[in-house]
Amino acid sequence: MRRIWSKKLAIISMATAVTISTLGFTGYNSFPEAKGKKNEPTNVIMMVMDGTSAGATTLARWYKGEDLAMDEIVVGGVRTHSAESAITDSAPAATALATGYKSNDKVIGLLPEVVNTPGVDAVDPEDAYKPVANVLEGAKLLGKSTGIISTSEIQHATPAGFSSHATHRSNYQDIAEQQVYQEIDVVLGGGKEALQPGTTRNARVDGENLIEVLENKGYDFVESRDELLNTNSNKIWGSFAPSALAYDFDRQATNNNEPSLAEMTKKAIDTLSQNEKGFFLFVEGSKVDWAAHANDTIGILSDVLAFDDAVKEALDFAKKDGNTMVIAVSDHGNSGITMGNVNTNSNYPEIPVSAYIDPLKKATMTIEGALRQLKSDRSNMKEVAELYGLDNLTATEIEHLQTSKTLQADMTKMLADRANIGFSTGGHTGEDVFLYAYGPSKPFGLVDNTDLAKTMAKFLGVDLDKTTDKLFVNARESFENKGYTTRIDVTDENNPVFIAEKQKIKIELPVNKNIAYVTQNNKSYVKTLDGVTVYNSKDFYVSKTALNLSK
Ligand SMILES: [Zn+2]
Repeated sequence: MRRIWSKKLAIISMATAVTISTLGFTGYNSFPEAKGKKNEPTNVIMMVMDGTSAGATTLARWYKGEDLAMDEIVVGGVRTHSAESAITDSAPAATALATGYKSNDKVIGLLPEVVNTPGVDAVDPEDAYKPVANVLEGAKLLGKSTGIISTSEIQHATPAGFSSHATHRSNYQDIAEQQVYQEIDVVLGGGKEALQPGTTRNARVDGENLIEVLENKGYDFVESRDELLNTNSNKIWGSFAPSALAYDFDRQATNNNEPSLAEMTKKAIDTLSQNEKGFFLFVEGSKVDWAAHANDTIGILSDVLAFDDAVKEALDFAKKDGNTMVIAVSDHGNSGITMGNVNTNSNYPEIPVSAYIDPLKKATMTIEGALRQLKSDRSNMKEVAELYGLDNLTATEIEHLQTSKTLQADMTKMLADRANIGFSTGGHTGEDVFLYAYGPSKPFGLVDNTDLAKTMAKFLGVDLDKTTDKLFVNARESFENKGYTTRIDVTDENNPVFIAEKQKIKIELPVNKNIAYVTQNNKSYVKTLDGVTVYNSKDFYVSKTALNLSK
């Protein structure tokens, strides 16, 4: 499944880099690179700001009034297309970044069925929806510590792509359970509702209480900023909200008890770096994407800046450590946000920065945060509009908002109009995104999203294809080759179990767990596998270790 295009691109980008250096142009990639110390363990901190177009980072820089931490380490660009579309969804984007394989819409950590994008190699139809190992799984097999962080629910597409395998990103049941049984050392984000039974949309329907499982596994299960900052455990599961965490501006304005993304990143680094074999950490600023879908300029600024603070934490560690690769990237553009819109068609050369930034500075909350303060009769419409920076509204404008059926869109549009901000869509976009990277062996030039998985794996000493061969063999084929008869037991439809039997041996492999139940000569025992068991609705895939359990 080699792609010819990316090789050509790598050659082109290397040639470009050589030309630039011989010209003595120091503006390009001039940041002093950390020297790799051989024989020391390598670490990777992979950071994704979801759905962030380049226009969002430009605006964030002007808004902040100084360089972003990311600016120091910009090294190239990334192509983001999926196996089937020019504009990717977060699920195949995460799959590409984590496993090195492009996939289909909504698919997490599995090979694609449809491949029609020019330059992407076809996949054998028999391999469609076969799990492929991610960088985190490879790092774990090497004895490194691992962590995942998001500001959305932790089961959301991008963190899911670095920690699980599922045919659809909305299948939080499978994703949450796999994450719990992946033995990840530090997991921080939202998504508590998918960990236990309940009545909400993502509550568990399989009867399992995963919070109890986590406590039995020795995790410190923390639910507030204070609990996170005070724990000394080397296994931490932080679940700070039923679904997503608040936008960073709203977190600050309401002084809620959630940690910032930078605080979560620092805590994870402090914890994981205690392993002398090194670590892999994935960090997502999840909600830039959601703000972009809503064309909410303030939400975008809030969470680009919070993400950038987290990048600074990662860079501070990497500079001291000397053997840590930091990559920061967006998985795709979103909304086509621009400084400049129809207001500026002809007069743009005369418009100062302040004409864009000053109206935005008046907002103290995102549209989500502001509208949470709105009373059901909208009697405080004026005050809520002011939270979103819309001051000096006329009585007619306030009345319009009080009766509007599209209040959120009206408010975001009013502010964008005041600040001369343009949006071309409420969906994702297909342009290349910036590549930010630091540390020894860092990637540079114009790369493909799949190249980043390969670069991280190589630096960590992980062979992704060998890891896939170890962790995901077809259970039916493999056990039948060894003389077993096999079946899938769906008596409990939410907890399917793969069963292999031969003479007096019975091996039971429950879905989404790293556990095998073995019965031999009427004696039963439980074995822990080195990976989770994945069911793609057609076949079970299990760790090779499951094949050699009988005594
Ligand atoms: Zn995304």
